[in-house]
Amino acid sequence: MKRLISLLITVIIVFGVIFSLILFNNKSVNSNSNLNIVSTTGMINDIVINIAGDKAETISLMGSGVDPHLYKASESDVSKMENANIIFHNGLHLEGKMAEVFENMKKLGKTTVEVSEDIPENMLLEPDDGYGTHDPHIWFNVNLWIMASEKVYETLSDYDKKNSEYYKKNYENYIRSLNELNDYVIKKVKEVPEDKRVLITAHDAFNYFGNAYGFSVKGIQGISTSSEAGTKDIIELADYIAKNKIKAIFIESSIPKRNIQALQEAVKSRGFNVEIGGELFSDAMGDAGSFEGTYYGMVKHNVDTIVNALK
Ligand SMILES: [Zn+2]
Repeated sequence: MKRLISLLITVIIVFGVIFSLILFNNKSVNSNSNLNIVSTTGMINDIVINIAGDKAETISLMGSGVDPHLYKASESDVSKMENANIIFHNGLHLEGKMAEVFENMKKLGKTTVEVSEDIPENMLLEPDDGYGTHDPHIWFNVNLWIMASEKVYETLSDYDKKNSEYYKKNYENYIRSLNELNDYVIKKVKEVPEDKRVLITAHDAFNYFGNAYGFSVKGIQGISTSSEAGTKDIIELADYIAKNKIKAIFIESSIPKRNIQALQEAVKSRGFNVEIGGELFSDAMGDAGSFEGTYYGMVKHNVDTIVNALK
């Protein structure tokens, strides 16, 4: 009997140890488990990847070549957002067809954050075509994108306080590289004579670029791509290009080429040849895994393409 009791006690102790080991393990898995973060555009996801590092699984809903003005959330996007800890979007009506989805996520209690939220109003540009109150294409002024990165950093360290030092270090490294990029852009645009600094593209995505780095900017379509370009827009721009002998115009990776090609033809019929200076990444980055598939690479590619075609 005594033997049986001591055997029972041993069994209980052994099970107790195993049970507490399992509990302890689960606990350590939980405390190391990654955050789940969904971003709308690749540019925002680039910030998140760099600041969240190995503490988060990150998803970008829109890949290369996707136009955020027209993008509608699919069922699978909605379930990705429902399963996320944090949802980041650009705001300023960039994701024009997703407003209701963001409202629903907020109602579900999801941390849903506009990365443009803390940019002072006097730094935002007002569109002249009645598209919302402000131009949403803030990522083309690298200094504004640094502010967007700060918003991501603050959100992450607020949500996950125990890793805030880690996020801080990553944030500081990231903005160091963005500051370098900003210096590069400022230096590079100087290769184009001042009177040649005119940037003509498929839609008005580059006003912040023009404003920050000294280019006059014109797009065939307005701030959004949701209304079609009219013949009048093409005629006016073609007259302008022929009159001012603009060397090159640019296609955008997230917008069909046809308007830019039509513009080139219209200029030709006025007796002047304008080149297509290359493809710019306007509202979406390049393919994942490529240099242009990073924010840094996208901006560098754009400025190099613009400068080399216009100088
Ligand atoms: Zn756009």
